[in-house]
Amino acid sequence: MEKIVSLCKRRGFIFQSSEIYGGLNGCWDYGPLGVELKRNVKDYWWRVMVRERDDVVGMDGAILMSRAVWKASGHEETFTDPMVDCRTCKVRLRADQLPEKHGVKQCPNCGGKDLTEPRAFNLMFKTFIGATEDENSVTYLRPETAQSIFVQFKNVLDTARKKLPFGIAQIGKAFRNEINPRNYIFRSREFEQMELEYFCRPEQGMEFLEYWKEERIKFYENIGLSREKLHVLTVPDTDRAFYSKGTYDIEYDFPFGRQELEGVAYRTDYDLKQHQGASGKPLDYFDEETKQRFIPHVVEPSAGVDRTVLALLCNAYDEETVTDEKGKSETRIVMRFHPRIAPVKVGVFPLLKNNEQLVSKAREIVALLRPQMNVFYDETGAIGRRYRRQDEAGTPFGVTVDFETLGEKDQALLDTVTLRHRDSMKQERVKISELASVLLPQVQ
Ligand SMILES: [Zn+2]
Repeated sequence: MEKIVSLCKRRGFIFQSSEIYGGLNGCWDYGPLGVELKRNVKDYWWRVMVRERDDVVGMDGAILMSRAVWKASGHEETFTDPMVDCRTCKVRLRADQLPEKHGVKQCPNCGGKDLTEPRAFNLMFKTFIGATEDENSVTYLRPETAQSIFVQFKNVLDTARKKLPFGIAQIGKAFRNEINPRNYIFRSREFEQMELEYFCRPEQGMEFLEYWKEERIKFYENIGLSREKLHVLTVPDTDRAFYSKGTYDIEYDFPFGRQELEGVAYRTDYDLKQHQGASGKPLDYFDEETKQRFIPHVVEPSAGVDRTVLALLCNAYDEETVTDEKGKSETRIVMRFHPRIAPVKVGVFPLLKNNEQLVSKAREIVALLRPQMNVFYDETGAIGRRYRRQDEAGTPFGVTVDFETLGEKDQALLDTVTLRHRDSMKQERVKISELASVLLPQVQ
């Protein structure tokens, strides 16, 4: 894990928030490569979950919502973790994560056994709207994106003119004031979610729970996560939310253990019913064919963007020993991202930076490919070093413009380039005119 964290900082995937001031615990900033990786994950999710489907529409809700939403949803009352304080070193701890020694719970910080009784600690960030900081102006940063979908259900239904079953999807930031943020970007206080609320008739709930579990596993496979490292946990009755009739956790084998990537939950009609009751506004559905009026049930696949990014980073990291023509061995660090989600798709390199013809040809190729994919141009250093830098960034393809490209050695090779493959390090000659059609199907 340390190697991955170190590479992420060194290559500009992820930095600690407010680092020059000592850092802010549980918050992370994505650097130039990290933001591209994260954006590719979100774009692919949006593509398969919204754009390529007739039965799902998107929305983008505000992070701030009326406090009434969080009262009705139950978050104000029950969105809590049990917490204890260590009286010896004053540290605050999750009561359910305390190590035990000889059956006695103790502080992992100082080893002290003088702990307070567990108390409920609400995970929502409280804030005030407007100029007065009193009870009437209180609200919270949203702890999940789902609630804006529920409270806008009627507006979306009326404007998108969808019939059941149909879904509303959203990607956005959420905030939880975790007592112990940990495992790098896995559990942080500010994070991003990709959520779908899929509304259906009550009798279809269990069927769509199965359907979405399968769809979501396919998604993770399609962005390159190994199937052997993905697992489905059937959440036992005792651990499920009381309103849920079935929940699956899709888990991944992280270096720090098997942990949840996504929850797929059948939430019944709980949320819409709560909001209809609290707001007094009807949130029901009228079925034209059966002339029935009812509150739809909902199945929710809820994925964490940052967790997915972390799984992709862990999955991609590889070290191998390579030997060059002179017999010298070295360690190659390579991020084996699926080309679809790789931050940079292709690196373009003129063999020499002081040769005007090579440089201008390379620039032409950059201009040719840039409208279709993320291209990185690099002319500094030996070509082998430039390849290694892109290996660490996870760039699947490298294009080198050399003297053959200019037709100096063999006229037949005029306007061809060396195409290098990151994983195999194999090289082939490809015509410049065919580059886009060779690369595009692999990176989309
Ligand atoms: Zn302590």
